[in-house]
Amino acid sequence: MPSAPAEESSANLSAFTAHPVRTRASGPTQSRMSHQITLIPGDGIGTEVTQAVVRILEATGLKFEWETVLAGAEAYEKYKEYIPKELTESIERTRVALKGPITTPVGGGFASINVRLRKQFDLYANFRPVRNLPHIPTRYPDIDLVIVRENTEGLYSGLEHEVVPGVVESLKVMTEKACTRIARFAFQYARKNQRKKVHAVHKANIMKLSDGLFLRCSRNVAKEYPEITYGEHIVDNTCMQLVMNPYQYDVLVMENLYGDIISDLCAGLVGGLGLVPSANLGDNCAIFEAVHGSAPDIAGKNLANPTALLRSSLLMLRHLGEFDAALKIRNALEKVYRDRDKLTRDVGGKAGTSEFADFVIAAMGSGTSIS
Ligand code: ATP
Repeated sequence: MPSAPAEESSANLSAFTAHPVRTRASGPTQSRMSHQITLIPGDGIGTEVTQAVVRILEATGLKFEWETVLAGAEAYEKYKEYIPKELTESIERTRVALKGPITTPVGGGFASINVRLRKQFDLYANFRPVRNLPHIPTRYPDIDLVIVRENTEGLYSGLEHEVVPGVVESLKVMTEKACTRIARFAFQYARKNQRKKVHAVHKANIMKLSDGLFLRCSRNVAKEYPEITYGEHIVDNTCMQLVMNPYQYDVLVMENLYGDIISDLCAGLVGGLGLVPSANLGDNCAIFEAVHGSAPDIAGKNLANPTALLRSSLLMLRHLGEFDAALKIRNALEKVYRDRDKLTRDVGGKAGTSEFADFVIAAMGSGTSIS
């Protein structure tokens, strides 16, 4: 098993994302800096979970300047653009965004804004640490694995067309450049965080050229990291192996669609989609968001669990160098998870989204500043 917990060790992601972030000094120490962050509330449960997380972040005593911008259908109503220039300019300025989920219409309508943002800012690595929270009953305790999902191509290229009526094609685009850089990201992360194994997940027995290229690039990169054990598993087998024995895995690297599917499977292993965070990382900026979508079935009902976005914000705090604040929130979160009544319904509790945030703030000792 890896020695360092995934959320802790994700601090070492800074090696890949050493781009300057925007802070404004208001005192001699870093903790008195004001962090400029683009805030995308999103829609569905997005506004509820972002509000809860912003309140918790502010209760740490850190200073934030939030640049709140719309995206998706709401932005279209106001600006006639799904990704308005205000959003693009804000992320170019702050280089860090905290983002709620944005609804993607199914089987038609506009292309996923979540995917477009990742491509627009070349956020090529989607980093998804999967860990249990204390006191949430699951089949497997102490899961600690990391999914590294390629974020810019694969079957998510969005290149589809109708050849003749009744026949459509959807193109899977794989490039040596993207396959190599995602493999390098996974191995570099493993090395920096004393992880022992990297598995490349593929379907190269069927997609011989595209997934074959992914494997060739992964094997080449693996040679540069002899201290890390390299393995290859076919994606369907990986699903079964994860359900039978998730402990055999440490870092998993894969193309875009497999990453989407395996992430939800792994979320199920640790208690559900309400718990798993992610970071979209590129060379120039980073967007932190939950693994889950906009959950229209529970939107507007104060039912959503903000834990996944809160854990994403912990990745953001570490990216910003705010380790004490991240630890403070994490400790408070673990304290709250000891008491089932304080949890949201998806994990067996009775609390609403905003009450859950109140409990986390109370557990931190609200209003205290970081020394
Ligand atoms: P996408 O493909 O956009 O990621 P999805 O199809 O996986 O979305 P979600 O919107 O993530 O669907 O929702 C899947 C299920 O998980 C729904 O039943 C939803 O209510 C539940 N769910 C998702 N996020 C949360 C959350 N934060 N709290 C509680 N339940 C959630």
